[in-house]
Amino acid sequence: MSKSKDFLRTIVENDLKSGKYKEIVTRFPPEPNGFPHIGHAKSIVINFGIANDYQGHCNLRMDDTNPTTEDTKYVEALKDAVEWLGFNWGKSVCFTSDYFPKLYDYAVELIKMDKAYVDSLGEDEIREYRGSVTEDGKRSKYAKRSIEENLDLFERMKKGEFAEGEHVLRAKIDMCADNMKMRDPLLYRIKHAHHFRAGDEWSVYPMYDFAHCLSDYIEGVSHSICTLEFENNRDVYNWVLETLGVELPRPNQHEFARLNINYTVMSKRKLLELVESGQVSGWDDPRLPTIAGYKRRGYTPESILTFCSQIGVAKANSMVDVSQLEFCIRDDLNKKAPRVMCILDPLKITIENYEGRETINAPYYPDDIAKDGLREIPFSKEIYIDRGDFMEQPPKGYYRLTPEQPVRLKHAYIISCKEIIKDANGNISEIKAEYYPESKSGFDTSDIKVKSAIQWVDATQAKTIEVRLYDRLFKDEAPDGLKDINPNSLQVIKNALIEPAVITEKFDERFQFEREGYFYADPIDYTDENPVFNKIVGLKDSWNKKKKTISNTSNKPQTKKVQIDGEVVAMSNKQQALFNRYTVNLGLNNEVANTLARDEKLSNFYEETLTTLNSPVALANIVANEVARELKQIQKDTLKFNAKQISELVKMIDNEIVSNKIAKQIFEQMAKTGENPTKIVEDKGLIQISDPAKILPIIDEIIANNPDNVAKFKAGNKKLLGFFVGQVLKTTDGKANPKVVNSLVTKKLK
Ligand code: ATP
Ligand code: MG
Repeated sequence: MSKSKDFLRTIVENDLKSGKYKEIVTRFPPEPNGFPHIGHAKSIVINFGIANDYQGHCNLRMDDTNPTTEDTKYVEALKDAVEWLGFNWGKSVCFTSDYFPKLYDYAVELIKMDKAYVDSLGEDEIREYRGSVTEDGKRSKYAKRSIEENLDLFERMKKGEFAEGEHVLRAKIDMCADNMKMRDPLLYRIKHAHHFRAGDEWSVYPMYDFAHCLSDYIEGVSHSICTLEFENNRDVYNWVLETLGVELPRPNQHEFARLNINYTVMSKRKLLELVESGQVSGWDDPRLPTIAGYKRRGYTPESILTFCSQIGVAKANSMVDVSQLEFCIRDDLNKKAPRVMCILDPLKITIENYEGRETINAPYYPDDIAKDGLREIPFSKEIYIDRGDFMEQPPKGYYRLTPEQPVRLKHAYIISCKEIIKDANGNISEIKAEYYPESKSGFDTSDIKVKSAIQWVDATQAKTIEVRLYDRLFKDEAPDGLKDINPNSLQVIKNALIEPAVITEKFDERFQFEREGYFYADPIDYTDENPVFNKIVGLKDSWNKKKKTISNTSNKPQTKKVQIDGEVVAMSNKQQALFNRYTVNLGLNNEVANTLARDEKLSNFYEETLTTLNSPVALANIVANEVARELKQIQKDTLKFNAKQISELVKMIDNEIVSNKIAKQIFEQMAKTGENPTKIVEDKGLIQISDPAKILPIIDEIIANNPDNVAKFKAGNKKLLGFFVGQVLKTTDGKANPKVVNSLVTKKLK
């Protein structure tokens, strides 16, 4: 064991040494109410890791005591995650629900000892009676009930004779205890709900404080390891086991700090909100910090395990930088992933002095040629390079192809630019080039100096693939939820080109696309007709650079510099003037202004939209995002829609005729057919619903169907507002006006 010993392992070793336990038994006890995330991975690694290190055992226990939020699909996701990380829970998965009969008997025992009683105060009174940190609580008058009466009531609670909230079972401890958790904690509550495993047998369900310690005891757990927020529950944990006088050795609870990562939300509730609102494609969306998400994105289990061991185990909460996780996967794949060439944004090159074709042999692992040999790359007169690898008017320090500067085609020849072909709008559509026969890689006898080698693919033999590029899901370092979403977290490129061996040989799933990053064949959507690759991570940490650039621009507007791919490209005077006008006069943010100002086609388009509608920010956003994406994807210069139609669409958004979400749908249609947005809205009935009379019945139904969430909301969990609004939007296919829904829901739930 090379790992340095953390405080938990020190405890475990001391307990073994003193003979307190013969065997180390831990457990990982998730509630099956959502998919596990990277925080759970930390807990899995700690619990299973300790059991492995000391030849013990770790149970996988579903803590399924809350029937309304749990589901077998979450049980399956949890099993998948543990297995994928390489751990083994032995014969079978444990379920707290399997212990319901035993737990019930323990509760009856406590009642018989006069250590538990049925309380009939309402929820509000219970809270009020509990007092506060500075104020003693007072005991309910129902605590005086006789043991017989308590036994009778508890049995009838179980049988379902009472309504939810009518009675609860409480421990009789101390209403003046300094630790508020010890002020007669609730042990059971009434719930008339179907349980996904126990069925309809139970009308009472145990609370965490009662179920957890006893489940640990029943399973013979020695070390019950949980996160710090349960520190105060430890007294209850011990009280229950001590009062019941369970046999020794009994389990003991130990707490560690939970994992927090910046730019990430990590509670299942917030993740559920993202999934239900449709902001992500599902629990396994590659942008989510769920294990299923990382798996689908292409992370390896090894990289997650390395990350967990790097962050260590501590007793103080802290925030981990997400780039540390990205470092772990990059480092893992650097040695493992074969290198191939893929062109994300193709620019055609015709090599005029080359005839025929040839096959170039190139290693998959340039640093370790012995490994996995060579692949064949076809080469001919017509190839594609990346649009970003040619510049007509390069800034200083640009090392790739320019009219004056030759470049090496990786593994092949050096070429130079002879002629630039442009379309009617002045955009480069093709480069005529010349190659140097004596410059072939590995056999170069020419004297030509180049400053870099770029990737390329053969025009006729390359395969078309779809590439999905991911950015951080949140733009905020400490995101709260839906409102902090990064609107550009997913970019889909439909017409990327890749060298054929990748598709035909299918010998691996993860690749390094030279100079682009690490990519993974999407396990769900990849088909022979439409190969799909997810970007796992870039080759270097570009995020920090990006952040710096943005703040630079806002601090010193005179010397704006934007970094592209590690090189500094200054703006031309004209671009600079546009940028200033956009930020200062029109109020655009730096990023949007930068995108528009640097692209002549986009800025022209944007200026044209401005002539028909005075809504500069909304127009800029749609042009810099949707229109820009469309322009990138179409092969020739044939946008189906024009500036006027975009203005028309934005006007409909401004006037709240359609929602932003629906607008995206309309835009897709415009991009396909060139129809007018007004017509699309009419044909498809996409008009936004703002009439309260139409929205209120939907809200009523959602409220009726989600009594639990209503109760939680009323008990103070205001963040559930997003859940209700999301449900209404979902029910109306995104057509309900979110503002109206928001205010109606708020009023309804008051
Ligand atoms: P969430 O708040 O995300 O829903 P939870 O704590 O309710 O998480 P459970 O399913 O009850 O999730 O937790 C299972 C185990 O995973 C617990 O032992 C819990 O302490 C641990 N765990 C959950 N989140 C983290 C985290 N961010 N870091 C470390 N451990 C975690
Ligand atoms: Mg929870």
